[in-house]
Amino acid sequence: MQLENLEKIHQLGKTTVHALRGVSLTVREGEFTVVMGPSGSGKTTLLNLIGTLDKPTSGRALIDGEDIAKMNDGQLTRLRRHKIGFVFQFHNLIPVLTAFENVQLPLLTSRTKRREAEDRANELLDRVGLKERARHLPDELSGGEQQRVAIARALANRPRIILADEPTGDLDTQTGSEVVRMMYEVARQEHAAVVVVTHDPIIAERADRLLEMRDGRITEIVHEPLTGEKHAIRAIESVPPEPGRSLSQPN
Ligand code: ADP
Ligand code: MG
Repeated sequence: MQLENLEKIHQLGKTTVHALRGVSLTVREGEFTVVMGPSGSGKTTLLNLIGTLDKPTSGRALIDGEDIAKMNDGQLTRLRRHKIGFVFQFHNLIPVLTAFENVQLPLLTSRTKRREAEDRANELLDRVGLKERARHLPDELSGGEQQRVAIARALANRPRIILADEPTGDLDTQTGSEVVRMMYEVARQEHAAVVVVTHDPIIAERADRLLEMRDGRITEIVHEPLTGEKHAIRAIESVPPEPGRSLSQPN
């Protein structure tokens, strides 16, 4: 997945928000990327563009060299179903389906054979440590367990990339850390790339890449290989913004 100089301007009535101001980024196979940054800096906008849930105002997003803007709705649906897995801030599980059925659902909608879908759902629930909870409804699970089901569901169709936007929702800090750590382990086993928005410093420390968003721009924070503690900061973009196009933000 390759992002080239993405800009996104949100229009809300008369208010114009320049949410992304020229973001370039390559997400590589199997890589675990953490995105940090203050509220309103454009993190969700970025993830939505990577996930093809939204279109850029300018710039290009390429997946396997193909421009997303040139794909029709059918191609985009297939792309999202097979190549991208989403983990949202709150789990979004279907309340009347069991944990097992929630994980199995994306497999059945992508026409996987029932037996194969069952095996895959069981395998994933086992990996996220919920084998014993497979027959429970979301309501009967803790917040952390619900998010683990959501991770298993996101991985069901063996996506190449998992996008997780503050997946720790309203979990307490420790449970939140455990959930993201589990996502890290499982995605690694499945060779899926992950882009996760999280504020957890321990996860950030383990990330292959650590990015910081500020005011619609992205900066890579490079781990010092020797100490692992000090960080050097290097800007990714070289293109300065055009002064006339910088629009003020309402908040
Ligand atoms: P973050 O996830 O880092 O908090 P967002 O990507 O949600 O940031 O938002 C970046 C900026 O874009 C904010 O100023 C926000 O208010 C604005 N924004 C996001 N989505 C919309 C939208 N759909 N319509 C108008 N403005 C939006
Ligand atoms: Mg957000």
